[in-house]
Amino acid sequence: MLKLDILVLSVHPDDAELGCSGTVLKHIAMGNKVGFVDLTRGELGTRGSAEIREQEATASAKILGLAVRENLELPDGFFENSKEYQLKVIAAIRKYQPAIIITNAYHDRHPDHGRANELVEASAFLAGLRKIETYDDQGELQEAWRPQHVLHFIQDNYIRPDILIDITDYWDKKIESIYAFGSQFYNPSWEGEPQTYISSPEFINVVAARASEFGKSIQVKYAEGFTSRKILGVDNLFNLK
Ligand SMILES: [Zn+2]
Repeated sequence: MLKLDILVLSVHPDDAELGCSGTVLKHIAMGNKVGFVDLTRGELGTRGSAEIREQEATASAKILGLAVRENLELPDGFFENSKEYQLKVIAAIRKYQPAIIITNAYHDRHPDHGRANELVEASAFLAGLRKIETYDDQGELQEAWRPQHVLHFIQDNYIRPDILIDITDYWDKKIESIYAFGSQFYNPSWEGEPQTYISSPEFINVVAARASEFGKSIQVKYAEGFTSRKILGVDNLFNLK
């Protein structure tokens, strides 16, 4: 069994790259095992296709050094925070037994993001209840498992973060992982294709501006921000930045 330290559960392939890939790279460099389970294949995306995005997701997973990346193939745009989908997310959480889950922003411009956040939060709690039965790929009953923390990254809407993580050393690699999604972001060879909110050259400037604004708050160049439904603590005051 592959046990992960951090499991990132986000709805569209590329959300995690935008929201938390710097933090992921940093923790992998520290020796942690990190994997992504994308909830959908992003098949409603204006540009590209599910197949193209699958290749892009695989390329990005290599850049990031993920231990695993899989896809639950829930219906993009139409999944719900319902028992049917919760059971699938619960099975993924129990499969990898992560200490920490990272998921989408709790509210955002794209309604899938907030809905994914609710689905993952509910599933992370329910995964700890042993009377909810789920089965692994071999048909074996899975053990109950509840992560210690569920953190939410920040996407399009500005949300005041609860914590910030310095990702300065991993900035270039983060950008490289984002551009692995050549169908989604600015790409001169896709000129003539429909343009979207995220495909303009300015979009990446906004990503950089956000990371730089968060970084300024803790006197570093770039940072990623996260929120949590639970109040978070630190061991001692000198671990605060
Ligand atoms: Zn998204």
